[in-house]
Amino acid sequence: MMAQYLAIKRDQPDALLFYRMGDFYELFFDDAKRASRLLGITLTSRNKGEDAIPMAGVPVRALDSYLQKLVRLGERVAICEQVQDPREAKGLVERELVRIVTAGTLTEEEVLDGGRPNFVVAACRRGDRAGLAWLDLSTGLFQLSECRPGQLEDELARLDPAELLLPEGMVGDDGDRTRRPFAAVEAPLRWCPDFDFNPAECAKELARFFRVRDLEGYGLSLDVHAQAIACAGALIRYAQETQRTALPHVRRIELFQRSNRMILDRATRASLELVETQRGERKGALLDAIDRTRTPMGARLLRELVLLPYVEPTPILRIQGAVEECFGDAALRDDLRAELGHVQDLERLSARLSTGRASPRDLVALRASLERLPALIDRLAGAHSELLAAIRDHTDVLADLARKVAARVVDEPPIAVKEGGIVRAGFDAELDELRSIGREGKDWMLRFQEQEVARTGLTSLKVGYNRVFGYYIEIPRSADHDLVPANYVRKQTVKNAERYVTPELKEFETRVLKSEELARDMEYHLFVALRDELAAAGSRVLDTAQAVARVDLVAALAELAVERGWARPEVDEGRDLVIRDGRHPVLEGMLGGEPFVPNDCELAPPGRSLLLITGPNMAGKSTYIRQVALIVLLAQIGSFVPAREARVGLADRIFTRVGAGDDISRGASTFMVEMQETANILNNASDRSLVILDEVGRGTSTWDGLSLAWAICESLHDRVGCRTLFATHYHEMTELVDECEGVHNCHVAVREWNDDIVFLHRIQPGGTDKSYGIHVARLAGIPGPILERARAILDRLESEGQRPDPAATRARDRTRQLDLFRPPAERLLGELDKLDPDALSPREAWDRLRELKERYGR
Ligand code: ATP
Repeated sequence: MMAQYLAIKRDQPDALLFYRMGDFYELFFDDAKRASRLLGITLTSRNKGEDAIPMAGVPVRALDSYLQKLVRLGERVAICEQVQDPREAKGLVERELVRIVTAGTLTEEEVLDGGRPNFVVAACRRGDRAGLAWLDLSTGLFQLSECRPGQLEDELARLDPAELLLPEGMVGDDGDRTRRPFAAVEAPLRWCPDFDFNPAECAKELARFFRVRDLEGYGLSLDVHAQAIACAGALIRYAQETQRTALPHVRRIELFQRSNRMILDRATRASLELVETQRGERKGALLDAIDRTRTPMGARLLRELVLLPYVEPTPILRIQGAVEECFGDAALRDDLRAELGHVQDLERLSARLSTGRASPRDLVALRASLERLPALIDRLAGAHSELLAAIRDHTDVLADLARKVAARVVDEPPIAVKEGGIVRAGFDAELDELRSIGREGKDWMLRFQEQEVARTGLTSLKVGYNRVFGYYIEIPRSADHDLVPANYVRKQTVKNAERYVTPELKEFETRVLKSEELARDMEYHLFVALRDELAAAGSRVLDTAQAVARVDLVAALAELAVERGWARPEVDEGRDLVIRDGRHPVLEGMLGGEPFVPNDCELAPPGRSLLLITGPNMAGKSTYIRQVALIVLLAQIGSFVPAREARVGLADRIFTRVGAGDDISRGASTFMVEMQETANILNNASDRSLVILDEVGRGTSTWDGLSLAWAICESLHDRVGCRTLFATHYHEMTELVDECEGVHNCHVAVREWNDDIVFLHRIQPGGTDKSYGIHVARLAGIPGPILERARAILDRLESEGQRPDPAATRARDRTRQLDLFRPPAERLLGELDKLDPDALSPREAWDRLRELKERYGR
């Protein structure tokens, strides 16, 4: 046995090998030590003395919970099963590696989070292209895309992988495999040989997997998508290697179309706290605040939309129309949500069917969910919105599948597939026959008992059964053993009784056991046949699951809108943004007793493209600018918005740079990160974008920061022309309105009360020139003497009146400031454009050339 173990272990040096022995999975040697440490299970040993082999085991029944623990810790677990019936084995039972479980390839419902996908992701970089592909084995979703190398980390962070595969070529020069090339990704890493990422081989691998001649049918070609194909190929190989079954639920591969969705970079996702807060918690994030879905499919769809809103009116209007219908019809909304509450994760159930991992209980869950669908879809009979009507008219309610399960599987089957108890009586005559032998057996036993009592005169004689010894006749010690007939053969002595068998009882036992065994085998085969039949209908189930997800999304958004009093925003392709009485979608529900103060926002480029928001600390600047961004984002997923009314010219991107949280993990200083992210905005924003900047520049000295903030605002206003909200402490910036016609000032109102201040949280037109920093410090509990000293210093500084004049700086060197944000090659071209060679003397030409070389040469 140990030889068999070692042979299997040899191929899996870096996985913990779970070796099946009866009702346990055993681990040996270092695996045992490691598992006992990680799981807190007892370390024992096989053999004693010199030959002792460290050993630890987990019961088969508890496998899931141990697996979950281990993969969460980043471990891989190789599962080795007995693939032969021990009764048929001559000598050693055959065993085989059936699956390698890793964080990214888990499919067990109990260990997965229903509200989010479980992606294993592969990524690579070559030259100026980066590729990535992602696969959710729990649903079969398989997509790929390419991007610029600089965008890769952002994309990975959006996908939030459960496991990440990278080519070994990406290990740094020092060979340190523990260092993470992407700080934003915390998932376990798996380094694969570079060859696994060879694009041509990967294209072949994928074509083989999907049984197609080439990938053209998927819109993929090696000329255009080499890196993405490389990743998808590496991924599918990994999936096959770990799953060791065909993966019929992975039906197609899709090129992810970025163009019709909004790209939100990592800084924006993080600062708007879309799916988790800056502290990494779900509670308090936008998604948590707005999620009213009732199915895991709906929850995943909402999450996807929050991370990838639409940029075109058509899909938004479709969802909006349906939300409006449910919004206005409380009975419809309630009925839909009531039905949805009974629908389980159809996508994941379907995937488990396809991989042959569905239990009898999964089938019952499937049936229970499917049985809700006719009522759900019927409820849409009167629907008039385009989306709901289309779902009503085109959704397959899968009644045939529900009927099949109902006819064959009992209502409360066990989880185990081989123990019987699965198939409904009346489904199969032969099975019923076998079972009746078992049942008759009970009557027979009673009759036999009566007969033996009469024959022997031993009234306390009983016929019983246990798993080890089978059927027996039990006679209490206290009875008169002289009366025991000669044909009773003693089998076992227990505490107060003797147990016997007779040839007649033995013969009966064989007949019953045989029929029970046959019945169990038959049930297993009937179950597997049904599972396979359902698996074959997998794509129908998936299509229906998507329709259910949409209904759930719509009903949930409507519920939210009713609950919070939200309004349907107008969306169009213009560039105006008008919000009346807008609120922050997360904070409005969290302020406890205090009412949230609603605020307007009006942007209409070019005449009104940039709002400069000044006001003291704690006034509500950050809240306000985030609330505007979140309202636009909600509008772009088709949701209603927290406002009395809103008109949203669709943004192609939303950028935010909010707060200056230290980001030590990225190895860059706070200010560096702040500038990198701002540079990203300046380089990528278009005139259709919405840019939210919160106190950019505060990470450096006041005058540096002010000058930068000034120049950045100018550039966004003059060059990009996007809609911008800029919150700042630099009151000097309010003078920008004199220079740029699209810039407007507003401030957050504060009322002074004796020596105190009251935050009104109301945005009003015009600038302000007071900070109230010392007031806020007092509120925060800074001791009085320090506050007094601060006030004295402030008075002195103010009386000295040293303020730089950014307007003058701007007049002096305006072109240069604008130029700062263009790439050097472009700047060089600009300068060449300005040169008129005919107007230069040879000497001047030579001087200019030397100057250009100095400035732009390498
Ligand atoms: P700082 O400059 O110190 O970052 P800030 O001006 O950005 O401050 P916020 O962080 O936006 O201020 O808001 C401070 C607090 O004020 C919030 O936590 C919230 O409790 C409250 N607040 C903000 N806006 C509103 C509002 N519109 N209605 C009610 N309370 C609000």
